[in-house]
Amino acid sequence: MATITLPEAEVRESKNSKTKYVYSFGGGKADGHGKMKEDLGGKGAGLAEMTNAGLPVPPGFTIQTEACREYMKSGATSKEVERQMDEALAKLEALQGQKLGSGENPLLVSVRSGAKFSMPGMMDTILNLGLNDKSVEALAKRTNNPRFAADSYRRLIQMFGNVVLEIDKVEFEEVFDAKKKQRKARLDTELDAKALKEVIEEYKKVVKKHAKREFPQDPHEQLVMARDAVFRSWQNERAKTYRRLNNIDDMLGTAVNVQAMVFGNLGDTSGTGVGFTRNPSTGAKEFYGEFLLNAQGEDVVSGVRTPVEIGELEKIMPDVFNQLREITTRLEKHYKDMQDFEFTIQDRKLYMLQTRNGKRAGLAAVRIAIEMVEEGLITKEEAIFRPEPDQLVYFVVPRLDEKDVKIENVLAKGLPASPGGAVGQIAFTAEDAVKMAGHGSEKKPVILVRAETSPEDIEGMVSAAGILTSRGGMTSHAAVVTRGMGKSCVAGAQEIDVDEKKREIRVKGQVLREGDWIALDGSTGRVIKGQVKTVPPDPNDMKLLDKFMTWAEPYRTMKVRANADIPRDALNARKFGAEGIGLCRTEHMFFGEEKISHMRAMILADTEDARRAALKKLLPMQRKDFDGVFRAMNGFPVTIRTLDPPLHEFLPPREELMVNLATLQYMDAKQKKALVAKYRDYGVKGAGDLKKVLPVLLKRVEQLHEVNPMLGHRGCRLGITYPEITEMQARAIFEAAVAVAKDGVKVYPEVMIPLTATVNEMANQAAIVNRVAKEVFKEKGRTVEYMVGTMIELPRAALVAGEIAKEAEFFSFGTNDLTQTTWGFSRDDVNKILPTYLKEGIIKQDPFAVLDQEGVGQLVKMATERGRKTRSDLKVGICGEHGGEPSSVEFCHRVGLNYVSCSPFRVFTARLAAVQAGAADKLKIEGGRTK
Ligand code: PEP
Ligand code: MG
Repeated sequence: MATITLPEAEVRESKNSKTKYVYSFGGGKADGHGKMKEDLGGKGAGLAEMTNAGLPVPPGFTIQTEACREYMKSGATSKEVERQMDEALAKLEALQGQKLGSGENPLLVSVRSGAKFSMPGMMDTILNLGLNDKSVEALAKRTNNPRFAADSYRRLIQMFGNVVLEIDKVEFEEVFDAKKKQRKARLDTELDAKALKEVIEEYKKVVKKHAKREFPQDPHEQLVMARDAVFRSWQNERAKTYRRLNNIDDMLGTAVNVQAMVFGNLGDTSGTGVGFTRNPSTGAKEFYGEFLLNAQGEDVVSGVRTPVEIGELEKIMPDVFNQLREITTRLEKHYKDMQDFEFTIQDRKLYMLQTRNGKRAGLAAVRIAIEMVEEGLITKEEAIFRPEPDQLVYFVVPRLDEKDVKIENVLAKGLPASPGGAVGQIAFTAEDAVKMAGHGSEKKPVILVRAETSPEDIEGMVSAAGILTSRGGMTSHAAVVTRGMGKSCVAGAQEIDVDEKKREIRVKGQVLREGDWIALDGSTGRVIKGQVKTVPPDPNDMKLLDKFMTWAEPYRTMKVRANADIPRDALNARKFGAEGIGLCRTEHMFFGEEKISHMRAMILADTEDARRAALKKLLPMQRKDFDGVFRAMNGFPVTIRTLDPPLHEFLPPREELMVNLATLQYMDAKQKKALVAKYRDYGVKGAGDLKKVLPVLLKRVEQLHEVNPMLGHRGCRLGITYPEITEMQARAIFEAAVAVAKDGVKVYPEVMIPLTATVNEMANQAAIVNRVAKEVFKEKGRTVEYMVGTMIELPRAALVAGEIAKEAEFFSFGTNDLTQTTWGFSRDDVNKILPTYLKEGIIKQDPFAVLDQEGVGQLVKMATERGRKTRSDLKVGICGEHGGEPSSVEFCHRVGLNYVSCSPFRVFTARLAAVQAGAADKLKIEGGRTK
């Protein structure tokens, strides 16, 4: 097996023999404590903390993360780790009065990963370790339950085979399913001890065949191999993807927790479950969770069986239920946050397996934060760090339009796993979802439909608009992950038969196929056929958010504006709290049916007069747009950018090859000869046969085709080569501004010149704008306050920012173009490269989504400093996509920007990110936002 080696410099110096690698817990005390997440991982620290708090935790020990880092460096664990582990194992055996995998009452353990940050389902777990051909008999005797013993053993071989020996799960599943078929068993539980013993023998053969070795009978060898496999699982692909998406450092490593097994599958007085101290979807203060009788934890989390609501436990085992309630209330008080916990009941005795701060949806995050302040559990200052800024998108995401939902189209009702409405076309695999959804502005809504999701589906889930599963509960993988993403999810819709192979779902006698439209209501669990309309969020939720923001806002020092081009978006932005417009892209105003023809006429004009004639037609339309935007932003600044895009974008594309192909039949011999000669130069084989070669060439050219990287005739270059365009736009701006000012609207236009690289460009365009302003003010007999500034989108502009600031009254960083030009990536074509770069770890994040602080960020910082040296009151903002991304917003706060500007739907996110950055400063909290 390959061992991934970390770069030398990143690995801490190997510690000497004094290093404590292994921390025991049990019998009411633990070597570690809850604050040791760095070393013990979240789970290990939690187990230590719970043990110290006197909770009924099965004893065990944690091998700390340093051992994982050393393992990754050298491919082995040191002798000292082995020694300490053996010592801890002996202690555990003494405490339990059992021996690992031997004797009449064999000790069995679980081996689980546990990193500093929770990574649900991303790494591996092995249960029932210690079982072998002998101890399985002892277990059968002791529990008087041979079926249970055999089932535990076959589960161990399966997990061990898959995780440690890297045998595909399918190999085991095939054996198991064949046995079920043979015994005509519908459920796993219908296989008796004899059948399971046969499965075990088959499983052993699978191990022998694929791993070229026997399943290890020595319990100690099992333990060592399992521990090392957990270390390796830190580097598996899904764990890497999860870390990338959640911005978790690859170098942290995982701890390994070895803990005495308790069994939830000893019959109907045993069970296992998971729960939350509050509702993770709504935030309501209610004991919330689910459990399964006669099952192991795996069954609940993986979603293979659909669990029962926790309230039922009160009827079945009231004492256990009450004890659980009491413990979990205590837990919340202790941790001062909503807890997500796992428990097992073995023969009516309750054990707590783990507790951690629970993942929650955006609405729940805000509601819990508010209510915990009101209950006196946390302070307002603590509360403002509780929701993740990205989660606030929930308050502005759409829900389904009930008027558009017809009862007869409701296909099924599953669990309301993650709120919000999603509508899209069905995809059956994560891969298809990624393909069908596409990227960027072309992105299409897709609903990923699976029987159940697993961590391998993560990329598809990122691409999809919503997720539907036919199995699994509220805490299944699909539910937990989508809630974190703020994405709609319906889980466990059991009436739906998902046939991933045939790529169809069957429900209520109907068949839906790949590409068909469905809608999900993640708040009620409904699955609806068709392309249902969606409506914006509930104003009542907004009230809750407003209350939260009232506490939070005093910590914000940086303004938040929105990028909006039309009055409707501007109004929306105001509603979400935008304090002005940071970017109005005037070219977007030209996309309407009526306007585009004049725009084309303007572009096709070959004389200035003809161009002016077309511009004259555009002037009143443009003025009207500005009028509406100014009114919507009454009292706030509006930054209007002069025309930016390459003009050819407004014309139909022409492909020489296509023309050649179409006209080939009309060409005479001489023309054909010329073409053959031309294409022969390209080195195409058989170029003599044009009929054959042209389609081949065309196909290849299309494959290689790159959209214009937008470095050409655009930005201020347009306004300089065709000054009449800037003139017209300035006139429209000032005429509209004067007109609305007359109506009492407070208007502050900021005219922004795009893509400048030198102060002379800026001076050229500023002169036009100032001249036109003067003319308009004179004509109208009224003036308005205004500014002329520029976008900083080119490295040269950042370098000479001090010069440019002589002419520019404000800067706004166009980090979309600045990223493109700094990296030399074309922003439209980067997706050909990006997936590989991310997968290979060459870059950690998409620099077009998350500001590259190390590179592009330096330019932002430097340009701000240089600009302000020239003009101390220079107003500086950002209007690239990064303006709504939390870590980038935090960066902007740090380098002293006056504002960030983002799409209206991200205004809340940007506001909270700015709040948290400001509060971290004021309260001296290290690192700002919490994880
Ligand atoms: C930018 O480049 O960051 C920007 C906001 O402008 P556009 O995306 O319109 O090029
Ligand atoms: Mg730009």
